[in-house]
Amino acid sequence: TLTAGVVAVQGDVSEHAGAIKRAAAAHGEDAEIREIRDAGIVPDCDVLLMPGGESTTISRLLHREDIAEEIVAHVEAGKPVLATCAGLIVASTDAQDDRVETLDLVDVTVERNAFGRQKDSFEAPLDVRGLDDPFPAVFIRAPLISEVGDDVEVLATWDDRAVAVRDGPIVGTSFHPELTDDPRIHDLAFFETVEASQ
Ligand code: GLN
Repeated sequence: TLTAGVVAVQGDVSEHAGAIKRAAAAHGEDAEIREIRDAGIVPDCDVLLMPGGESTTISRLLHREDIAEEIVAHVEAGKPVLATCAGLIVASTDAQDDRVETLDLVDVTVERNAFGRQKDSFEAPLDVRGLDDPFPAVFIRAPLISEVGDDVEVLATWDDRAVAVRDGPIVGTSFHPELTDDPRIHDLAFFETVEASQ
């Protein structure tokens, strides 16, 4: 059984739980989902999910509840993380916004709410490195990745800018892979990282 922690201080949680279970099932595994609202749960988790929501609120609560340093330790141990949308903003090294206390885990600079009003929310088929067919990517007031560190692998771009990256054990996406029935991004983040790091 895979123990998957979903950060649940704020933001969308239940859809991710479903996607993790589907990805695990494809590997013949069960997933036990733990919702993370307090310190002490992250150390029990094999993989972590940092969902979308509001990055200022999420980062504040992660620090206040002493969960932030547990997530950093999880990554230092080389264990997988999928960070989506606001989760990616919180995991980044620079959110260009003093109200977001980033965890400095993904070496990227992000631009919050970067798509402009007209394109606030949209869905697009996205070519993702490692996937055979385009992924139906749902963007909701999504961040763009404006700068990418040397060790960061860009997995997908939109308008020539990165919207999915891998940095060591973390996969970060600007979009919401939990909002379709397609578990391939969760699969890429959790199972392929696990296999690649062995
Ligand atoms: N706009 C949000 C932020 O900057 C992120 C949106 C989302 O997670 N869907 O925190």
